[in-house]
Amino acid sequence: MISDKMLDFVKNSSVIRAMFEEGKRLADIHGKENVYDFSLGNPSVEPPVRIKEALIEVLNEESPGKVHGYMNNSGHEDVREKIAISINQRFGTSLCNKNIIMTVGAAGGLNVILKSLLNPGDEVITFAPFFGEYRNYVSNYDGILVTVAPKLDNFQPDLDEFERKINEKTKAVIINTPNNPTGVVYSEKTIKDLANILYRKQEELKTTIYLISDEPYRELVYDNVEVPYLTKYYKNTIVGYSYSKSLSLPGERIGYLVIPDELEDSENLLSAANVANRILGFVNAPSLIQRAVARCLDAKVDVEIYNRNRELLYNNLLSYGYDCVKPQGAFYLFVKALEEDDKKFCEAAKKHNILIVPGSSFGCPGYARIAYCVDYDMIERSLPAFEKLSKEYGN
Ligand code: PLP
Repeated sequence: MISDKMLDFVKNSSVIRAMFEEGKRLADIHGKENVYDFSLGNPSVEPPVRIKEALIEVLNEESPGKVHGYMNNSGHEDVREKIAISINQRFGTSLCNKNIIMTVGAAGGLNVILKSLLNPGDEVITFAPFFGEYRNYVSNYDGILVTVAPKLDNFQPDLDEFERKINEKTKAVIINTPNNPTGVVYSEKTIKDLANILYRKQEELKTTIYLISDEPYRELVYDNVEVPYLTKYYKNTIVGYSYSKSLSLPGERIGYLVIPDELEDSENLLSAANVANRILGFVNAPSLIQRAVARCLDAKVDVEIYNRNRELLYNNLLSYGYDCVKPQGAFYLFVKALEEDDKKFCEAAKKHNILIVPGSSFGCPGYARIAYCVDYDMIERSLPAFEKLSKEYGN
């Protein structure tokens, strides 16, 4: 018999993955080209060619022991050094290899850091709408996820509510910008205000509150929007990065954590993260892809492909009477559901073979997420279905 905790997890198993399966079922019935699956954040853009070249170079040029063997649980030292230098050049930080921990994607990084930080009952605050897995990751270490409602006019966080929710149990805050599911980038003002609140509350409560910046979408931004690098604004910041989206490599499971020296208890946290990587069973991030990404730190997927999708979908949805904030980054669009119950709205969309995910999966009922990391042609084919759906609601 499986554990009670897992019974619950299995029962509530991700709506997004269920949708993915539903997509395959509908495709068998109606034909693949007549099903519009916007359910999963699986990058549609090919990884840069440089990645393939780098993988081959690593296999041809580096000794097997260096590529396939065990290593420091935090990752290859030379890879971490290159990443540290690259971040320093881009963001003016002063990192070195010891500040970088290679992780099994952003998901692995978040689990490593939460395992390292949380005592049972500790609270972690995040801002709705948020990546639903945060609930599970925090629960893995018997923490409590506390959520702050969004400002619905622009999906920037409500900082007054945030301040009210901080207490002596608050151990960490997770923010995600560019955001999944809204595509919103938190402004520099938001970040400065948030940092001021954290400094004030640390002082008042005599505690340390860590800010975890979960940023798999950092490179996917449009219209030259700036995404502030958070270590500059708040000393106790940990950055969790991933190549899953920036290089379209989600199956390769590669990312890293940045734990700067300025951070409170930095040395101990670095040691804890190293051990957490090992005892969570990751041992270390996959070696071959570590070595390959280190050779193409300046590579990036062609963001213009997502931008075209964004423009096509956003402009047309607006013309059909849908309401949504124009995304500035990532590859998601968060539309207001055309009825109060977002789950019913997504069911109604399914009748038109449109698969989208209810906002309640992201802690924000009344909305639905459309992942536009799909072929442009599929978006074009789906537009009449979106229009019919809107008309069904009297638009
Ligand atoms: N954080 C957010 C906000 C995400 O959207 C995702 C994946 O979609 C992850 C973390 C996990 O990313 P990774 O595949 O790098 O583990």
